[in-house]
Amino acid sequence: MVHRRLIKNGTVISMDDQVGDFPRGDVLIEGQKIVAVGPDLGEVDAEVVDASGQIVMPGLIDTHRHTWQAFLRGIAADWTLGQYMTGLHLGLSAFFTPDDTYAGNFVGAVEALDSGITTLLDWSHNVNTPEHSDAAVTALRDSGMRAVFAHGGGADMYQVPSVVPHDLDVRRVRDQYFSSDEGLVTMAMALRGPQFATLDITESDLALARELGLAVTMHAGDGEWGRSGPIRQLHGRGLLGPDITYVHLNTLGDDELALIAESGGMASIAPDIEMQMGHGWPATGRLMAAGIRPSLSIDTCVSNSGHMFGTMQITLAAQRALDNTEPGASDRASVSLSSRDVLSFATTEGARVCGLEQKVGSLTPGKQADILLVRADTLSLAPLNNPIGQIVYTAHPGLVETIFVAGNIVKRDGTLIDDLGKRACRLATEHRDDLFERAVRTEKLADARIGGTWQPAPLAAG
Ligand SMILES: [Zn+2]
Repeated sequence: MVHRRLIKNGTVISMDDQVGDFPRGDVLIEGQKIVAVGPDLGEVDAEVVDASGQIVMPGLIDTHRHTWQAFLRGIAADWTLGQYMTGLHLGLSAFFTPDDTYAGNFVGAVEALDSGITTLLDWSHNVNTPEHSDAAVTALRDSGMRAVFAHGGGADMYQVPSVVPHDLDVRRVRDQYFSSDEGLVTMAMALRGPQFATLDITESDLALARELGLAVTMHAGDGEWGRSGPIRQLHGRGLLGPDITYVHLNTLGDDELALIAESGGMASIAPDIEMQMGHGWPATGRLMAAGIRPSLSIDTCVSNSGHMFGTMQITLAAQRALDNTEPGASDRASVSLSSRDVLSFATTEGARVCGLEQKVGSLTPGKQADILLVRADTLSLAPLNNPIGQIVYTAHPGLVETIFVAGNIVKRDGTLIDDLGKRACRLATEHRDDLFERAVRTEKLADARIGGTWQPAPLAAG
């Protein structure tokens, strides 16, 4: 018989309007799936998981993270975007062996999972050899989370403007690991787009993705680079489509947002990184006005935190700051963006971007059981006066008590199973030490160091 679990007496946030929310409710899981959600499912022949004092909600979804960088966390906390390019992309990234890529992806995935992110789109753009791709995919699989491996090729593809076509190893990866789209880890293609590659190359890259049946994720509209009209250029060639997710979108014109909306395209915004690195104001409000509901992403942990609670809070705070500087703001009768909107970005909209809207993103009978139990009987959350408002504005990863992925418990009583967390911390330190040791032996990175004092030379203008 399929194993059944009854999550009982929690405060249920379903993120499904048909199902609704319950101040006190139950969720029944059968095998991998949710089979019932209600205020009281009564006596059921199932293992009971007591959720009293806890919020029961869908797992969070991050739609863009350069996961391989995880063990370099913090090094760019006081760097500009130019220093990030020289220190990391033109610096440390070349020293990544396949084992380092495994460690980075494993550490980043486990960090995300522990904080309540059950689905992660891994924007993997430092896979310099087939072995790097193998390592990245294997690490995602070993983490136990749901993930989308977005193949982004290696450093040789990022000499801007690039005339190098996307690495054809993407075909092998598709055949070898993702012949089915039904696994816990699925595949997409992370393309450079017109900001990094020529339009001809972009056209052939998109044709390849569409031939392989892979959804596309592409940076567009970040900082000054984003003002070159990337969406207008794609539109001019008839390349826009509902299979593309655009990442950032800060400096795109309103006409470009309208073109994306018209084509059915999707959005991933990373407000925390965007404000830190200088991409521009988060496009949240402008996207909503254009009829596009964005998903949320962490982007990179080299300066910012890796959890979605921080990103949700910053998304809401940034939009309200913008709204409140508008003329007549103090006379407004209500806010433009609600905490429920923001939680939907991190759940249902994220699922759509990952091509998983039929499977995850809400507590809906028939969907996969990707579920969080978040402690609410704590100094920071009790009493619950507005559960969604408090999840978005006050919760943090330390409150994520229990996590289900596809019906399996991967975190219980505040601790990840199978010593995943301990293994990730050990790998992070070992690979960080080893990478820096190799890097400082070279002339180019002789000054690289940990501790917070390393200031790489900024990117030369031109
Ligand atoms: Zn990115």
